[in-house]
Amino acid sequence: MAKQNTAGALLAGRGLVKRRRTVMVVVGVIGVAVSLGAFGLVRHVEQGRLQAEFERRADVPATALQRDIDDYIYLLRSIDAFFFSSQDVDRREFWGFTRDALARLRGLSALEWVPRVSEAARAGHEKKTKEEGFLEYQIVDRIESGRNAPSPIRSEYLPILYVEPRSEMGELGVDLATNADYVRAMNKARDSASPAASLPFLRRIGTNQMWSYRIFAAVYTNLVAHESLVERQRNLAGYACALIDVRRLTRGAMGRLKESDVRGIGWQLMDVTKDGERAPLLQSTEWTQTGEAAFRADFPFDLGGRKWLLRCRPTADYMSVRGNRRGWGIVLWGLVVTALATGFVGTALGRAAMVERLVDERTAQLARSNRELKDEIASRQQMEAALAAERHLVDALLDTIPDHIYFKDRESRFIRINRSMASLFKLKSPDQAVGRSDFDFFTEEHARRAFADEKDIMRSGRPLVGREEMETWPDGSTTWVSTTKQCLRDKADNVVGTFGISRDITLRKRAERRLAVQYKVATVLAEADTFSQAAPEVLREVCECLGWSVGALWVVDKTANLLRCVDLWHDPGTQFPEFEAKSRAETFVSGVGLPGRVWASGEPAWIRDVTTDGNFPRAPVAIKEGLHGAFGFPIRAGNEVSGVMEFFSRHIQQPEDELLEMFAALGSQIGQFAERKRMESALEEKAKELERSNQELEQFAYIASHDLQEPLRMIASYTQLLERRYKERLDADALQFISYAVDGAARMQALINDLLAYSRVGTRAKAFVLIDCADVVRRALKNLEIAIEESGAKVVVADLPKVQGDLTQLTQLFQNLVGNAIKFRGDKPPAIHISAQLEEEGPSVWHFAVRDEGIGIDPQYFERIFVIFQRLHTREEYPGTGIGLAVCKKIVERHGGQIWVESEVGKGSTFHFTIPKA
Ligand code: ADP
Repeated sequence: MAKQNTAGALLAGRGLVKRRRTVMVVVGVIGVAVSLGAFGLVRHVEQGRLQAEFERRADVPATALQRDIDDYIYLLRSIDAFFFSSQDVDRREFWGFTRDALARLRGLSALEWVPRVSEAARAGHEKKTKEEGFLEYQIVDRIESGRNAPSPIRSEYLPILYVEPRSEMGELGVDLATNADYVRAMNKARDSASPAASLPFLRRIGTNQMWSYRIFAAVYTNLVAHESLVERQRNLAGYACALIDVRRLTRGAMGRLKESDVRGIGWQLMDVTKDGERAPLLQSTEWTQTGEAAFRADFPFDLGGRKWLLRCRPTADYMSVRGNRRGWGIVLWGLVVTALATGFVGTALGRAAMVERLVDERTAQLARSNRELKDEIASRQQMEAALAAERHLVDALLDTIPDHIYFKDRESRFIRINRSMASLFKLKSPDQAVGRSDFDFFTEEHARRAFADEKDIMRSGRPLVGREEMETWPDGSTTWVSTTKQCLRDKADNVVGTFGISRDITLRKRAERRLAVQYKVATVLAEADTFSQAAPEVLREVCECLGWSVGALWVVDKTANLLRCVDLWHDPGTQFPEFEAKSRAETFVSGVGLPGRVWASGEPAWIRDVTTDGNFPRAPVAIKEGLHGAFGFPIRAGNEVSGVMEFFSRHIQQPEDELLEMFAALGSQIGQFAERKRMESALEEKAKELERSNQELEQFAYIASHDLQEPLRMIASYTQLLERRYKERLDADALQFISYAVDGAARMQALINDLLAYSRVGTRAKAFVLIDCADVVRRALKNLEIAIEESGAKVVVADLPKVQGDLTQLTQLFQNLVGNAIKFRGDKPPAIHISAQLEEEGPSVWHFAVRDEGIGIDPQYFERIFVIFQRLHTREEYPGTGIGLAVCKKIVERHGGQIWVESEVGKGSTFHFTIPKA
């Protein structure tokens, strides 16, 4: 707007300047026009006067020329009369007549007599002229300048017969009838009976080219009428011809004038006859100085039918002498007056314009400031609206955001809080918080910490960003927030307080805490060997995760039917000596105190504040040592509660349902752990016992079989001696009995040997070394050499590996298996195949197989045959003790492997066993 107004004023100013300029231009133009008009008028009058004067002066040479031309025409007419007056004119007479004229008329180059000669008269004519002394004379045609040829025969000739002056004698005899132009002029002169001129032609005289005319005058035959055209044509005698030099004629005429008569006059003579060019014939030397003069005077002449024009123009000198001074004076005066008038008008208008411009400028300035004012008002309004909008946005943010936002002064008193925070403080409106502080809402402990933080922020200027902190409330509840606080500064950058935003992260924190408890407890349980080892760790971890101070484990004493405290952990930073002593000393029956309550209900329990609880016998010591919040949960194995864990906090604590639920589950987990550990240790105990008794048994078996050998050997040898010595003295029955006794002793020996071997697997074991199984099998087969031979057995041994093992035992193993394969062979000779292959699935093992094609085993006995003394046949069918496979099993297991059988009755059996590769 302001810009436009300035532009407007500027335009107005420009308008004024323009108007002033226009008026000045108009005045100037009018002045100049009037001056020029006056000049023109004066000049016109002057011009008229000058022209009249010039015409008068130019008339003098024109008159002179006219007079001369008249003389020439007169001369020609007089020749006609001369001829007409005398019957025959001879050459002398002609000369006499023309001599005068030639002397007087300077422009006359020659005078000629041209008679009309018929063809018939030609010869006589030529002859007569020759006789006059012109011996060469004959009628000739002019071929070119100076060259003639005798005229061919024509009906009539017009030859030049006389010519004066004598210098022109070369023209004699030339037949003019051959020149069309001459003929035309001659015919015209004949028919009109008045002189007629030819076309102008250039004639060379010396080195000059002169414009010349021939002017013919018809001469009719003497005394014959030539009134009519026919008569004139018939009676024509010939022509008098004057050769006129234009220059000489003109100069002659002008030459007679006084110099003053022609001064200042430039002239030009033109032949303006319509049949030819408008060629200038001659001009004065002053002509070139005249230029295109302002005026001229034209004078026409007639020369034998040719129209001449004498054009006169004043020379520059002439004009300058008679210059139009008065006109210029007027112009000068006019211009001076115009300049003065324009100056005056300009000044007057300039002053007016200046005044007007000043007014315009003032007006424009006023308009501008007016507009600026309006703009400012508008922009203020805009700013206010923007501010209002911004305030609205800020308010909307503050009032709807669930986070807590607050502004505090330097003393940490609230300046403003948002709605969310007001409702946290249980205020009806955020305004109610103004002037109050954290001390009015939180516990003193928390308020003091926050106050210290804010002091620190204001002092250091460093913000506190995203700190997670616990808020404690007077009712004992705790909440968690993520807080960001920083300095509040005024426009001058002075710290005037703090402001901050806190986001409630209680739910997340509690969830995290629960997860942490679960994780820690699970870790403890996973790492602990026994429940008694795990319990104090669990107490510690729970306290640390929750930030609680004391934890205790109570177990159910089934016999006494009460709860006893077996473990107590407390925060090492604080001592609770009386509470601890009291707890350890106390026992609770079902339903009494926190542990009794949990035991009775089998559910977790929460006490906001034990100091005010009705069923908390330890309340006096708790009050003394500042314990308030508490909760407990059962440790249950199956349906039974085996114990209770309880925890105490130094703060009043609002119950947390999720936490209790979690501890209920944790209680079962701990209970299961305890149960499992109990069972594991019982099992372990059993295994140890078993081991011990096994060892004892083994030892016993060894000692027994070893010690039994000696008496048995005695029995056997003495029975055999009895048989040998008293053979003849004993009857058949006695001998029979003795043979039974011998047999029994032998079997017992075998049994004892086998038993000894069996017990030796455990007792006489050797350390493992690397053994080549091929070698082992070779030894076994060597031991079985006789049996193999007798039975005709075929043993095929595939590639066998090297393994870590006990050579004696592995030999025994193969020997037993191959021995059985021979023994249980059926009808045909045994075919035995021994092989091994590496099995990489899981830990690498060598898988051995001893295959036979013997009698086979019913699958129902697959397990039984590996048990000691278990046999499938009677002694009469197949001898044996039923220990062989039991020994095999023991050996294989000692080597870390397994043994089993695959078999089909009647088709053969395959005994498999494995030995670890490493
Ligand atoms: P013994 O050979 O002294 O009877 P073992 O412990 O060696 O005792 O064998 C137990 C039983 O397993 C044998 O009595 C027999 O019935 C069965 N047995 C063992 N090896 C074979 C075999 N290769 N083929 C068929 N049966 C067998």
